[in-house]
Amino acid sequence: MSNRYKSDDFPRCLSCTRRWAGDTCRFQGVRVLYRDSKGELRDVDFVSEPVGDAPHMQYPKQWNIPPRDEHLLRVMTVATHGLLDILRQEREHLNRPNLIRRVRETDCRATCDTCLTSVFAGSWICTSCGREACSDCHDKVVEICNDPEKKQRTLDASPFFLTCTRKQEHTAEHYRPISRFYPHELQKTIEDMEQLAYRYGSSPPSVPPELSPPSDRTSSADSLHPSPGSLALPLPRGNSSHPALNGSPYLTSPDVTNSSLHEERPRYCPKLPDVSDFGLGYHPVRMFHTHDLLPEAFRALWAEGEPIAVEGLLERSAIPWTPQYFMQEFGTEVCVVIECQTDANKRVTVEEFFQKFGEYTDRDGCWKLKDWPSVTDFKSVFPKLYEDFMRIVPMPDYARRDGVLNISSHFPANALGPDLGPKMYNAFASDMEPGSKGSTKLHMDMADAVNIMHFATSRPDGGEGGAVWDIFRSQDSDAVRKFLRSRFKDKCPAGADPIHQQLYYLDRELLAALKAEHGVVSCRVYQRPGEAVFIPAGCAHQVCNLSDCIKVAVDFVSPENIERCENLTREFQAQTWKEDVLQLKTMLWYAWQSCSRLVRR
Ligand SMILES: [Zn+2]
Ligand SMILES: [Zn+2]
Ligand SMILES: [Zn+2]
Repeated sequence: MSNRYKSDDFPRCLSCTRRWAGDTCRFQGVRVLYRDSKGELRDVDFVSEPVGDAPHMQYPKQWNIPPRDEHLLRVMTVATHGLLDILRQEREHLNRPNLIRRVRETDCRATCDTCLTSVFAGSWICTSCGREACSDCHDKVVEICNDPEKKQRTLDASPFFLTCTRKQEHTAEHYRPISRFYPHELQKTIEDMEQLAYRYGSSPPSVPPELSPPSDRTSSADSLHPSPGSLALPLPRGNSSHPALNGSPYLTSPDVTNSSLHEERPRYCPKLPDVSDFGLGYHPVRMFHTHDLLPEAFRALWAEGEPIAVEGLLERSAIPWTPQYFMQEFGTEVCVVIECQTDANKRVTVEEFFQKFGEYTDRDGCWKLKDWPSVTDFKSVFPKLYEDFMRIVPMPDYARRDGVLNISSHFPANALGPDLGPKMYNAFASDMEPGSKGSTKLHMDMADAVNIMHFATSRPDGGEGGAVWDIFRSQDSDAVRKFLRSRFKDKCPAGADPIHQQLYYLDRELLAALKAEHGVVSCRVYQRPGEAVFIPAGCAHQVCNLSDCIKVAVDFVSPENIERCENLTREFQAQTWKEDVLQLKTMLWYAWQSCSRLVRR
């Protein structure tokens, strides 16, 4: 804040009082100060009319393939499902007295100052400190201010819940409703969504398979042939009403020959040779060759929340993703590595790290180079690697950053979108023995992800290299939580979520105990070089490298799993320790706006 305001008597916002570096005033563009001719402050007011036109958003113009109406309508149906009620509520919110207007931020992410979730609609702003509260947190302020007992309980649990300026704590009176919506834009979106909901109901129109051929197929007739793997059902578990699973339309197709139907059984991810599963038994995970994976088969499994493995990816890779390559290209760069057992970290050069790959006898500790590059965008640091990864990633309509069915692909270029990767994961071999922390501890992500292994050394015993994934079905999350709480009472305080804590690895003894006590086993994938693992949003998972491995993962947001994403976001919100980095509602809003510009209805 400049000096000329120093003597004036009006409330300073949170940013201006604390002088956080780089923070702009919370009231910028929201509050107007009126002065008389002598420059004396006469009045303070807030912006109550929409400001100018809605900012021009630069929606993407290119996708992995030209988007067709089938893709667009699918995304729009999902957006309608996730947003229509919220937008109708926002229309009511706009009619509240004393509404303050704000232009939608593009250079930062609007968040609730109390629970850190992204703010999309229905929020409130304190006119004293400028803190913004999401509708849930505002409701809670109103509720506890009328109930001293509840208030005390809330403040015991979160002492800063009502923090305002030094002189006061928040009450409902401090807050005024605030909105970033333009009435005509909101109304048009609601009407269009209502029309779409009327035409298509709640289920998204499905993309016929011939409209979405895998990129490496040459003739459309070819793509109509079912993949043997995709038809050889039933699945190992779960009931599905999906047409590709029950009464598949392909079965009656004249193109389908008996041999193509019965030649191959469903394939499951094979074990690595000489790696024992200690007799635990696991849910098998379906595996496809990348050439055989048809969109319909993928979607059917994906909608069930199944992890999926895909092989044969390196055939199309043009870059050797080897330790030698990284030493050559980035050897002198300094990076931070973490020891998997102790979480100790140190700075080394990329060359120092990769030099030790495969040198099992000549090193101490199990180091990993995680999330590399950590700060900057993979695409701008490794443009060639980015291109190569995007070329080989299976199900590009979903997994590519510009995939037509990836809901995050519609985020405008001039808005601050979520960081969905890709990210590299390079780590030394670990093991599953008692006490091991594995390579990546048990955790859960809000977005879908696909992880490709590019390189693995041989195992210390000389066997074929790779990694072991344990992915738990989302319906088993609560049993896993209960188990972890009972085992790690001292490390997991009441109210904390042991999965979100990301502190534990289930070694073979713990996996056996989990099975004995709760009847829960994981979906297990043995991942080799050239193989991808698809992990659905909301499935707890852990990884153990059995040899030194180079992997790359990218997050995406699929129409099939968005509901689970939303539930997860609420779960994370309740935890308050992890921000809603996906900005799911904002993402759906942009996806709708982007698609409705392109669709021919
Ligand atoms: Zn300020
Ligand atoms: Zn909140
Ligand atoms: Zn305040």
